[in-house]
Amino acid sequence: MMIEPKEALEIVLKEAKVLPIAEVELLDSLGLALAEDVNSDVDIPPFDNSAMDGFAVVAQDTERARKDRPIRLVVADTVTAGGTNKTMVVTGTAARIMTGAPVPLFADSVIQKEDTEVDGELVCIFREVKPGENIRRAGEDIAKGERVFESGTEIGPAEIGLLASLGRSRVKVFRRPTVAIMSTGNELVELGEPLEPGKIRNSNTYSLYAQVLACGAHPVSLGIARDDKETIREVLTKGADSDVIVTTGGVSVGDYDLVKDVMTELGAELRFWGVAQKPGKPLAFWTFEGKLVFGLPGNPVATMVCFEEYVRPALRKMVGKSRLFRPEVEATLEEEIKKKSGRLHYVRVRVERRDGEYRVSSTGPQGSGILKSMSLANGLALIPKDVSLVKAGEKVKVHLIDQPEDH
Ligand code: AMP
Ligand code: MG
Repeated sequence: MMIEPKEALEIVLKEAKVLPIAEVELLDSLGLALAEDVNSDVDIPPFDNSAMDGFAVVAQDTERARKDRPIRLVVADTVTAGGTNKTMVVTGTAARIMTGAPVPLFADSVIQKEDTEVDGELVCIFREVKPGENIRRAGEDIAKGERVFESGTEIGPAEIGLLASLGRSRVKVFRRPTVAIMSTGNELVELGEPLEPGKIRNSNTYSLYAQVLACGAHPVSLGIARDDKETIREVLTKGADSDVIVTTGGVSVGDYDLVKDVMTELGAELRFWGVAQKPGKPLAFWTFEGKLVFGLPGNPVATMVCFEEYVRPALRKMVGKSRLFRPEVEATLEEEIKKKSGRLHYVRVRVERRDGEYRVSSTGPQGSGILKSMSLANGLALIPKDVSLVKAGEKVKVHLIDQPEDH
């Protein structure tokens, strides 16, 4: 009995539980979500400092300065980045200053080097400077006491940088889930092995591994299980320590589709098998010894699309991220799409924003084994179950699968 994609996703998300909180080294938090609210106990930057290499001055002293009629100030001192701001700039003087150096006492602005010229002990100022110019104020990035991040914030490179500037060498996150990946099939050959007639490369392990990594989870490859129950059981058992097991292939209706039999024999609880979608109809889902087990179909695009639509949101939930899904937008079709009614279709598309609206066109042949059109796609257009034709100019919903993560 096929179920609807929406229902399948609900079942998956209901079973996906947020993992326990762990304290990790700052860099080990990349790709995870914060399990604490982070407030700043300091101003960032901590002191007023120069945004330029140049001269710290009193703005009033530069009034009416021009290239052909410069104002000359006495260079009283030099302040370098990392120095202290004990230096004073009284009227008529300037201090040579480097980017990031503290602004000297009484100076209220910095003129960049390019607008000056040194003349012995003096500096010629070629233009007027406004008070406050080229000064980065203490706390202008983050003020002391400010809420910097909410729990659930995804940690990317910029968050790592901010946490570092707050001095956080360790942070609380939701533990990183381990995802075991098993490919099945007698036809599969590992990379580096000769490709005999009738064989194909195992590509799914690799695309899945990459998808798991991109969600911030920890992938472990269990390798290839051949199409016999014993091997499938053996290989699956190696995934016992993981939080999630993802298998590919062997869940359809063929004589050698044995993953379901093995899962049943192991005592796993089948939550659904068969989803009214294309690609990915044979998708199966079990709960087993506290783990989620996804039986993805073997066709490379079906594998990737099922991961994208079901496994990814589950992993994001487990890892405590507040946003589970890709952005969904309405887009105008550039060309018509025909399909059989009866299942939701995920069509690989290229999305572009033009004149204030999203426009999409198919990336080519949509066979569920054709990875090239997946690689060209930055979106999956959702063509509803009972629709058999969407005309050019009509709107469709699109999942943007190639977007930087929203936080
Ligand atoms: P199955 O679901 O096992 O019937 O496989 C469906 C199709 O996907 C077959 O053409 C398989 O050869 C192919 N396939 C299965 N597993 C993989 C894999 N790991 N890498 C690439 N193609 C695969
Ligand atoms: Mg197979």
